[in-house]
Amino acid sequence: MQVTNDTVVQFNYTLKNEEGQMLDTNVGNTPLAYLHGHNGMLEGIEEALTGKEEGESFSITLAPENAYGERKADLTQRVPIKHLHGAKQWKPGMIATVHTEQGERQVTVIKAGKFMADIDMNHPLAGLTLIFDLEVVSVRAATKEELEHGHAHGEGGHQH
Ligand code: ZN
Repeated sequence: MQVTNDTVVQFNYTLKNEEGQMLDTNVGNTPLAYLHGHNGMLEGIEEALTGKEEGESFSITLAPENAYGERKADLTQRVPIKHLHGAKQWKPGMIATVHTEQGERQVTVIKAGKFMADIDMNHPLAGLTLIFDLEVVSVRAATKEELEHGHAHGEGGHQH
């Protein structure tokens, strides 16, 4: 089965920067699952996976505009430290998760005080050209329920 709109795709990824340094991988863990064609995945990745089949492995290079955007200079904010999620103690350079009206967002801690922290709202991967090694693990038709919810269920997807 090919990856088309309304299929659920499970895939493995290894993310590297232009220098070939590994930044992230899910290999060794559960494959990621998403519903294709519903904006659930980075657009550049969905584009690259379109038409691929189970078992295919390949690499793509995404310029910042196709990945997490360019880095913006004026995205520093001061927020209460209790709004930062992902660790108990914060140091400069650490990645935190914050909840915004647009959903969860990853930010970088610039300075952490006792009650307030300065954070850089740019995505940690903004401004970077990214190389993804991708492997399609499985492709299946989405269920009616998944289409109604707009996301994949089961292993690697939403659990609810
Ligand atoms: Zn659901």
